[in-house]
Amino acid sequence: MRAADVAADLVHIYYPRGDEQGCADLDAELLRWVAEHRVNVAVVGQVWRESLLAGLHAAGCLVIGTDPNGQWQAARPDLLLTHFPRHRQPLVRLLLGLRDGGNPLLWTNVAVAQGDRYVTSQAAPAPDPEPAELAEPFAACTDFVTFGAPRNRDGSLPLQRKTLDTNVGCPFADDATDNAAFAGVDLDAPGLSRKGCAFCPMGGDYRALPVAQTVAAHVQQLRYWQDHLAQPLDEAVLRDQSALRYLPQLVQACLDAGLRPLGLLVPGRGDAILRFGPQLRQAAELCGDSGWWFTIHLVGFESFSQPQLDLYNKGVTVGEYAEALRQMRALHREFPSAFRLYAHGASSFILFNPWTTLDDLEATAQFCDDHAVGDLAHGLTLSRLRLYPNLPLYYKALADGLLVDEAPAADRGAAFAGYSAEAAWRYRHPEIAAVEAVQRALADRIAPNESVGLLRAVVRWARGRFVAGAPPWTEDELSKLLNHWAALQALWKGAAPETRSSATRRTRTVVAGRTCNNRCRTCVAGHGEYEDRPDHLRSLLQAAAETGQVVFAGREPTLLPQFLAHVRRAGKAGAVRTEAITNARALSAPGTARQLREAGLTDLGIKRHRLADRDEDEMTRSPGSGVQNREATIQLRAAGMPWTVHWIVVREGLAELVDLPLWARAHGARGIAVRVLAGELDLGNLPAWQQAFGALQEAGRKTGLHVWFEGP
Ligand code: SF4
Repeated sequence: MRAADVAADLVHIYYPRGDEQGCADLDAELLRWVAEHRVNVAVVGQVWRESLLAGLHAAGCLVIGTDPNGQWQAARPDLLLTHFPRHRQPLVRLLLGLRDGGNPLLWTNVAVAQGDRYVTSQAAPAPDPEPAELAEPFAACTDFVTFGAPRNRDGSLPLQRKTLDTNVGCPFADDATDNAAFAGVDLDAPGLSRKGCAFCPMGGDYRALPVAQTVAAHVQQLRYWQDHLAQPLDEAVLRDQSALRYLPQLVQACLDAGLRPLGLLVPGRGDAILRFGPQLRQAAELCGDSGWWFTIHLVGFESFSQPQLDLYNKGVTVGEYAEALRQMRALHREFPSAFRLYAHGASSFILFNPWTTLDDLEATAQFCDDHAVGDLAHGLTLSRLRLYPNLPLYYKALADGLLVDEAPAADRGAAFAGYSAEAAWRYRHPEIAAVEAVQRALADRIAPNESVGLLRAVVRWARGRFVAGAPPWTEDELSKLLNHWAALQALWKGAAPETRSSATRRTRTVVAGRTCNNRCRTCVAGHGEYEDRPDHLRSLLQAAAETGQVVFAGREPTLLPQFLAHVRRAGKAGAVRTEAITNARALSAPGTARQLREAGLTDLGIKRHRLADRDEDEMTRSPGSGVQNREATIQLRAAGMPWTVHWIVVREGLAELVDLPLWARAHGARGIAVRVLAGELDLGNLPAWQQAFGALQEAGRKTGLHVWFEGP
């Protein structure tokens, strides 16, 4: 536009997640800027906030929307243009035509707002981008105007990152009309993307340059950003949906070009991860320890319920996902600094859609637990389908009478993430609305690594609550549940015995050991943060020892090769207290506890779930674990090793909690840390849990043992 002598600016807006006032303040700031600069045309992409559109109109702007599928109600763009951003020329032509007083309806693929509807011009299929245009998408604008500040989900500042645009569309082309889930659904609407995943506007529309040109285009863009950005580029996001196939060539080209090392963030489907396994390995080998690294930051898992995957026309199986996860973990273990699997938990999920069932949610929660997926996808248990009229699922919802003529659902991060106003829908199974409401209300009150456990507890509650003839769900019921939750949570909020800052706690805790000899049902351990490489452990140990206290935690630290040496090293590095949180099975071997004591271990936290050994085995899913755990206490007493019980409360063991202090006293424990997990809670009967915890505290007082709680 500037080349055509039109004053033009690029505006970046960073809306704060979940902060309506913050978003409104940003809109006001932008509209003041629009007025000061006498802007008369605003071109907008995915816009959620209709108040912004209304503000632009009030400022006298002609608003052109490049997403023709937004479901705005109160305020909307004056003109809509299809086929952007694959093509820039149609927008350039439209803007220059408008400048010269042209009638927009004379151009193809334009819609003009008239009253409460749009009048469309002649529709023409999107011409395939010429190779020249594919090679041309890179038009860097470095003097953009910014409103707000980029923030990660947790509010932290993001790294310096740029997206690399080369090939467009997606090669995955399964046709929804061949999918039984869409039998009888009319999928002939103009602009409908029938191929590919049924919730995605792409699919079957991949347009790519030859590999050598594609790689060269990436290198050209990386060089541009490295030469022009004030801050060094930390990461580059590849938008190409089929980049795994040429990743080795790209890494080699970056090395040959002498570019500064950085991280490459690549999207990948589950089946593509299996198909391009050799390329991933080759790319990792090429990265080596050059400083270059990559991750598959966005695996489109969506769900681990096969019926949901079939509904999404995803063309992949749960089994393929399990194998892809196994292969990615193995590659990460072999090349931890080249393939940084856990660098970004940005994989995508869609758990809640109009057809979701309790079985779907249970299947996904169970798979996540079995495969420790939580650390690959933050916020997965709140993910919800967004419907637009260019998606097959929109027409399935229409056919099933599940679209509702209501104001769109709440923002839920849409403005933050950059979505257009979406179509509102309702659940076929009303109990799922209650499940989503409870999950959403409680998820903010717990640690992220407990959200999958919480989902399991909510589904369990719903199965008990929504039996045949059950009364309808009410908001009142939700607030009652939240009050019970708050009363329970008061037991551990600020109740822990010592007050060191969370930062110190994090530093002193060495998360060591990737393996475990138990398979506890209650395990919330992911895979991401577990360390067992001696060189990395040494630096973690040193940092911990400087706090004066080292705590070995992990999956099972006693299984760590050279654990004894690490304990000694902690003492030498200055730790006055060296502890380990363990299932103690390894300590049942005579002499082990004494060796650790002599090496400098000062305290132990012994994890257990049930009083009876056979019940314990059931929880750990490891026969013999209960006996070994109990026999270890005999060895600890013989070695004079102080220890505390770390009791993990399970719903089957609630009634026996009152007997725990006597058990602990009899086995030589000096205190009881009670671990409450969201996944174990009985949400339909929280007062009974409160009562059981009260009885435990009372029994603790009588036995002279201190009892404290740690919870979600
Ligand atoms: S969701 Fe991903 S794999 Fe599916 S069509 Fe869209 S881009 Fe392709």
